[in-house]
Amino acid sequence: MTHPEQSPAEPRMCARCVMDATVPGIRFGADGVCNYCAMQDGLEREFPCGPEGERILKDMAEKMRRAGRGRKYDCVVGVSGGRDTSYCLYYVKEIMGLRPLAVHFDNGWDADTAKTNLARLCDALDVELHTVIMDWPASRELTNCTIRACVPYIDLTDDIGIASALFRTAAAEGVKYILMSHSFREEGVTPLMWNYIDGRYTRALIRRFAREPLPHFKNVDIPHMLYWLFAKGIRVVNITNYYDDTGDKVERLLEEKFGWVDTGQHHMDNELFALVYHYSRHKFGFDWRVVELSAKVRTGVLTRAEALEALKTPPYFETDEMVDYCLKKQGMPREEYDALLKAPNKYFTDYPSWYPLLRLFRWPVKLMCRRHMLPAHVYEKFFEAV
Ligand SMILES: [Zn+2]
Repeated sequence: MTHPEQSPAEPRMCARCVMDATVPGIRFGADGVCNYCAMQDGLEREFPCGPEGERILKDMAEKMRRAGRGRKYDCVVGVSGGRDTSYCLYYVKEIMGLRPLAVHFDNGWDADTAKTNLARLCDALDVELHTVIMDWPASRELTNCTIRACVPYIDLTDDIGIASALFRTAAAEGVKYILMSHSFREEGVTPLMWNYIDGRYTRALIRRFAREPLPHFKNVDIPHMLYWLFAKGIRVVNITNYYDDTGDKVERLLEEKFGWVDTGQHHMDNELFALVYHYSRHKFGFDWRVVELSAKVRTGVLTRAEALEALKTPPYFETDEMVDYCLKKQGMPREEYDALLKAPNKYFTDYPSWYPLLRLFRWPVKLMCRRHMLPAHVYEKFFEAV
């Protein structure tokens, strides 16, 4: 694993996508094409959509129905009100014919459009919605910890909270399947150095940077995961891998069927992302969109020229007004934020984490991903995109 700050800053870009030499873990083949492109091609082969994907999903639906016999739900579906999760919930209910429980986690940053979308969607699909709301002081302080830690990803609360809400709800309801909608075709696989997360790392950031106690924060650590995966037998499946969710046909269907309103980009159902994007562009010099745009170039939804053009201007939601709004809500003075932008950059490797231990278990993790116990791209993300 190379520390990004130590890698030579070659101004070299992949011949196929828009990732360049500043992306951590990037390597170029003889043809000038990067390993992230090869990774997406590999996932495409392992997780086909089209008729083969439909057949796999049909088998999966049958298994979920059997596991759900005698219970109220066949599966738990994580929803945000954004594009991918809304389409996933529709697909699970209408196409796969399952009985899902929709679970939403709110860390205090839900956009109003996302909330309206969720209510409309669940109403129209006749799906029960369970919302888990995070204690706001804990959410705010944990986000401030990550900014003070000078690491690239500052929205740990959302990722931990989503995992916690999904597993805890599935365990409480006796549901064996959690369905996620990360799409490698639409969103790509983010370099691990940019958004690594685990329970030990989160604890270390809190210990070192929290200025107030977080009594209501529920961490997710390895013992929790082992309990949910092995004692409770819960499986996490990215069904998105087996259907084609690329292009604006998804938005059109959601608009027509449910009066769904586009929240903008993949993450703007969560308003903190205005700060997430501003912070990483100004502190680390990278743009999160490069991952998603590259994925879209590979699937042919965008041309490489269109993706390069999009990267010339900052994301439309990253306005001064939104950044100020986020900082005010975070209770972080602008002067402190600006000083942290100039402080030395850090990565998860600068703090305690379980990553060295996880590396020892890379082959069992690969097996678990291929057997649909963990989401498909977890192995690639943790052990290949570094
Ligand atoms: Zn590439």
